[in-house]
Amino acid sequence: MSSIFDQIIEGKLPCDKVYEDDTILAFHDIAPQAPIHILIVPKKKIKGLQDLTAQDMHLLEDAVRIAQKLAKQFDILEGYRFLTNNGALAGQTVFHLHFHLIGGKQLGHELA
Ligand code: AMP
Repeated sequence: MSSIFDQIIEGKLPCDKVYEDDTILAFHDIAPQAPIHILIVPKKKIKGLQDLTAQDMHLLEDAVRIAQKLAKQFDILEGYRFLTNNGALAGQTVFHLHFHLIGGKQLGHELA
């Protein structure tokens, strides 16, 4: 099934893009939890972290590299969070692998 992120990746829905290359698209979250809340989304259709195979593991490395770059660009090097929710019980609502880059304020101990 096609998720909302598939439609964004395919250009059928708009997004507030901050980064794009052949494998990754990053854009501002529509409902930010902090002043900076960016979603880093591998373009390949992968449901979530648990479905990431050895063959695609480089996407994790790519996402981390882009998170580091964006953290610098958006001036949140003093503190940021990089996370993914895997599965509904963890709070995943869009079933297309993505990573949240969150910062720009004092973050609490809660993870969601
Ligand atoms: P998760 O709950 O971990 O699956 O994260 C999904 C995130 O996608 C949430 O933080 C939503 O606010 C965000 N989101 C949903 N639809 C859009 C959209 N069209 N553009 C940007 N962010 C979105």
